[in-house]
Amino acid sequence: MDNRGQRIEWDERGRPIFPDNPVIPYILGDGVGPDIWAAARPIFDKAIGTAYQGKRSVSWREVLAGEKAQNALGVNDPLPENTIDEISFFGVAIKGPLSTAVGTGFRSINVAIRQRLDLYACVRPVRHIPGCPSPVRYPERLDVVIFRENTEDVYAGIEWPAGSSAAREILADINRRIEKSGIKPVLLESAVGIKPMSEFNTSRLVSKAIRYAIENERKSITLVHKGNIMKFTEGAFCDWGYKTAREHFPDETITEIELYEKFGGKRPDGVVVVKDRIADAMFQQLLLRPEDYDVIVAPNLNGDYLSDAAAAQVGGLGMSPGANIGDRCAVFEATHGSAPKYAGQDKVNPGSLILSGAEMFKFIGWHEAADLIVCALTDTVENKIVTYDLARQMEGAIEVKCSEFGAEILKRISQGNKNK
Ligand code: NAD
Repeated sequence: MDNRGQRIEWDERGRPIFPDNPVIPYILGDGVGPDIWAAARPIFDKAIGTAYQGKRSVSWREVLAGEKAQNALGVNDPLPENTIDEISFFGVAIKGPLSTAVGTGFRSINVAIRQRLDLYACVRPVRHIPGCPSPVRYPERLDVVIFRENTEDVYAGIEWPAGSSAAREILADINRRIEKSGIKPVLLESAVGIKPMSEFNTSRLVSKAIRYAIENERKSITLVHKGNIMKFTEGAFCDWGYKTAREHFPDETITEIELYEKFGGKRPDGVVVVKDRIADAMFQQLLLRPEDYDVIVAPNLNGDYLSDAAAAQVGGLGMSPGANIGDRCAVFEATHGSAPKYAGQDKVNPGSLILSGAEMFKFIGWHEAADLIVCALTDTVENKIVTYDLARQMEGAIEVKCSEFGAEILKRISQGNKNK
């Protein structure tokens, strides 16, 4: 499809085999997307150039989605087939935020991209950047990676409005089925939605999280569920999670109970402890005992809430990287929305996209480039050179534009910054 660069291949365990000159498709994004991409791209190129002295480089290739796709192609389709084909072919891509266009039949383009490419794991590393203002006293105590299930749960989009004939028929059928169970019948004029959760989707997510924990020397994975109430969905998620660990990683994992009963609470080197927590308690735990948690695995809705709450704890969405990862494809993304009111103002924080790029380079094994980016960004924030969102929470901050923040990072990569 393209002879200007190489595509990323995948091994049988879903790990990328990276060439030195990959083509990486990017989606500019709507709203502030062009602003943050303009700040981020030179940083990516400079970090690669500095780290590998010309031995490695990326051929960036724009693919269209969102408003730009609709304007350029003149069709009412914010996610052209060609975009999905190209991302799928090249294997790893990066994107800015996409607005949810009204009247296209798309609930969300982001959800559509995840579903079309079967990007079943939404991966969000949440770690404090030194100097970044935070609402908690010790934000540096939180250092987790959240694996959120991306394809099912209440996000499957299977629901019917209150009063519709479909909702009434489904509810009448349900009421018939629970007639003798002692459960109170559902009001027929209720809205109804379906919460599908499967062993297949849970197991592949948990496997990915355990593999990540092993490869990155993380101590534990925590299954977050509401199985005390929703026994056959969330409760099963927890059971399937333990089963996956037991059956597929018998030598690399132990349960929390085994940790105390067999090992007196002392984790053997290289072993990942598998534990679980009820979702509501987990929100407290992340605030009160953040250091007890490491890799977190959650169904779609719990994971959505937890990712944003954890990001806020370390300084907000403007600085949180994210990725959607499948077995043969991964799309890295800014985790915030398109912030349309700031579009074209060169104002917002490009940190989320920049750090997502760093995560992408780690993912393809280019750790040196990733480290340069993270160190230079950290040094910039520690020097209180920040965009408006952080400046208003910091004393003595030097408020800069989106592009100026990018230029400061670029300068530090060129100079070889002192955080390295
Ligand atoms: P939003 O994240 O776009 O903006 C909410 C507010 O957060 C903004 O007004 C701004 O004050 C602040 N903000 C966001 N990003 C920032 C940044 N990088 N730097 C500084 N401040 C920032 O959320 P919204 O207003 O709910 O959504 C706007 C559009 O974005 C919607 O169409 C929504 O569907 C879409 N959206 C897309 C994604 C995605 O592409 N992953 C995620 C969320 C929302």
